[in-house]
Amino acid sequence: PRQFFVGGNFKMNGNIKTITEIVQKLSEAKLDSNTEVVIAPPSLYLLLAREHLRKGIEVAAQNVFDRPNGAFTGELSVEQLKESGITWAILGHSERRVILQEDNSFVANKTKAAIDGGLGVILCCGESLEQRESNKTIDVVTTQLKAVADKVKDWSKIVVAYEPIWAIGTGKVATTEQAQEVHAAIREWLKKEVSSEAAEKTRILYGGSVTEKNSGELAKQPDIDGFLVGGASLKPAFFDIINSNQ
Ligand code: 13P
Repeated sequence: PRQFFVGGNFKMNGNIKTITEIVQKLSEAKLDSNTEVVIAPPSLYLLLAREHLRKGIEVAAQNVFDRPNGAFTGELSVEQLKESGITWAILGHSERRVILQEDNSFVANKTKAAIDGGLGVILCCGESLEQRESNKTIDVVTTQLKAVADKVKDWSKIVVAYEPIWAIGTGKVATTEQAQEVHAAIREWLKKEVSSEAAEKTRILYGGSVTEKNSGELAKQPDIDGFLVGGASLKPAFFDIINSNQ
């Protein structure tokens, strides 16, 4: 059985006061001890979050660079994150792919650097509405993952997050059937292109307008192993989502 996993992606939200409050409340909340919980505040607040967070809850960066050090203005290295107690990175988020024009190969290089350096990676994939409507969903998602599989053989520290772009921040959550179908296809792809072990063990999260109201039904699907939560991760509803695997 795969351990249920819930990530909170704060994106570019919060300030010293609100992030301190969120993290303190999260540390005191009654959370299902079977759920692995990781939060990703903006990089400026990674240390603050780590400092106020209780043991057992991990912190993720929302990005990391693929080189060890040097003249790379604005970037953070794997080693810098690790030294600061940051154990995960979110990579390949659609906001970075679309707005910052990160391509599959750059995402794969960063995933390789993170995995080689000992970070866990929440690897995001997902299609646009136009791609879904022209039946390209599985093709798009597996192409995104293939770029990583070409460079990374050990998937034991990768968690895949399927986040359809049309569901992110829109209030338009994928139906349980839509999500389960893509998750099952990803697992099938892992079996063929990575290994049976990776297919069996890799957590596949759903992300896109997850709330405490829809998380319970989604969590019941056989191939949905948790969530990557945006907006709702900044609210007390996040605790209910963490506890939704009943
Ligand atoms: P929302 O939960 O706000 O739709 O965002 C999802 C997401 O992009 C998480 O990475």
